[in-house]
Amino acid sequence: MTGQLLVGQMMERPLLISGLIEHAEQTHPNTEIVSRRCEGDIHRYTMKDAAKRSRQVANLLQRLNIAPGDRIASLAWNGYRHFELYFGVSGYGAVLHTINPRLFAEQLVYIINHAEDRYIFVDLTFVPLLEAIQEHIQGVEGFIVLCDEDKMPATSLSNAQCYETLLNNESDVFAWPEFDERAAASMCYTSGTTGNPKGVLYSHRSTVIHAMASVGEEALGLASTSCFLPVVPMFHVNAWGTPYSAAITGAKQVFPGPGMDGASLWELIDAEQPDLLLGVPTVWLMLLNHMDSIGKKLESVKNVVVGGSAAPMSMIRKFQESHDAFLIHAWGMTEMSPIGTVNSHNNHMESLSLEERYQLQAKQGRPVYGVEMKIVNDANETLPRDGKTFGRLLVRGPWIINGYYKNDDTSSFVDGWFDTGDVATIDSNNYMTIVDRSKDVIKSGGEWISSIDLENAAVGHPELVECCVIGARHAKWDERPLLLAIRKPESTITEQDVLEYLSDKIAKWWLPDAVIFVDSLPHTATGKLLKVDLRKEYENFLLETA
Ligand code: AMP
Repeated sequence: MTGQLLVGQMMERPLLISGLIEHAEQTHPNTEIVSRRCEGDIHRYTMKDAAKRSRQVANLLQRLNIAPGDRIASLAWNGYRHFELYFGVSGYGAVLHTINPRLFAEQLVYIINHAEDRYIFVDLTFVPLLEAIQEHIQGVEGFIVLCDEDKMPATSLSNAQCYETLLNNESDVFAWPEFDERAAASMCYTSGTTGNPKGVLYSHRSTVIHAMASVGEEALGLASTSCFLPVVPMFHVNAWGTPYSAAITGAKQVFPGPGMDGASLWELIDAEQPDLLLGVPTVWLMLLNHMDSIGKKLESVKNVVVGGSAAPMSMIRKFQESHDAFLIHAWGMTEMSPIGTVNSHNNHMESLSLEERYQLQAKQGRPVYGVEMKIVNDANETLPRDGKTFGRLLVRGPWIINGYYKNDDTSSFVDGWFDTGDVATIDSNNYMTIVDRSKDVIKSGGEWISSIDLENAAVGHPELVECCVIGARHAKWDERPLLLAIRKPESTITEQDVLEYLSDKIAKWWLPDAVIFVDSLPHTATGKLLKVDLRKEYENFLLETA
């Protein structure tokens, strides 16, 4: 192309997180935000209150001499105070580092020091966690406990102060600063299965664009008419960006706080009647089991967004057939803010039989506009979108990482694309299906077996609670699948029963070589199966038992 482009004549207003809360205050002042608190009670206030208190947070940061770009950490459940920090800290120009409390102590120490957090805002629940590691995080200048004055605990944390007392002393007048939209707004460390966690630094621009892209019906569907319950934690990829999306549309939020078990979730659902739930499969297993045990239906719920791990077919069916709820399967990563693909309800599904629709729903979905994706082979050549060929999944887009924080490792970045570490297929309608993590796929006689597909098939057995499939060394085939399974407490099913159950659900040569019943399975801090140690433990199982 020759000649000069004609430049458009449009304003370049920066996309800032403060703009989201200002919009919310003006447009949705009376939208309710309901939270279960660590103190045990239910708290209610409105978007207007949240906006006001975010400005008090900003004034507090100023009083604490926080400079733009400084890292301020939070160690908290989903709740209104955490919501205020999202806007107060980022809006001020500092960076909110949301810490995952499920990380091991050494990982917590590592990320707090690596991020150089100056202050940590902490929920009552997690005070002991910080007390235990305090001597190793001496760069932290103070701890602000997210509680009322009369709930302030006796703590060995040095310079511990009460959030509500501090906020009470601050004015709610604060002029949000304007700065470059590329400035960092928040950060989250990946929990990783090996090595130190890696920091992902989100910008104001990436956060706002991601929020704008997430609200529509082709994505999460967070309209002003919806009331949603994000069980996905605010300490992991910003609760999938939903607090920001809610500020755009004014959807009502119901925060579950520390009550993540089936009974507590049901209590909140029954009281607040959300039509949309968001979370990882493990949480929904607990909720579905609880609903079975009390014989009730999730009347208000229309959609359940499931991501973080593959949604098993049995769950897709269960939500639909027992609760009239549509399971929206979604896939993403910490490095992608996190939304990549969403399998939302669409007109095409209307023409399918229920069985065909279930098959389609089991796929991880189509990319939200803004995310480009492709699959490649080992030579980085693009593979066909035929729904069969699988390869390494690469992505790019305005809310996808282009480098880890203070980390020179560029091995995940290929010619402007990010290598997700997932192996996938993409079909001619751009539906993507995750086959496996590239590290977890089992190579049997040169052919690949998807550990995820096997797990999902096995967990459909009514007497199994959780399943994990790993590759074990095999004399003839190099590697063969082993199924580790947790049975329901009263169950007496045998290895043979499980293999029979699987026999008409998967290819014969995929049948596990052994089924081992275990009492528990290890998980990462974000609830995914942690297979590294299991692979080591069972590496020679088949050689030894042959
Ligand atoms: P994280 O960064 O901890 O959120 O983990 C991201 C990884 O979780 C992805 O790379 C996938 O391997 C996995 N994951 C997320 N969503 C799904 C899904 N719907 N199905 C299968 N795996 C998923």
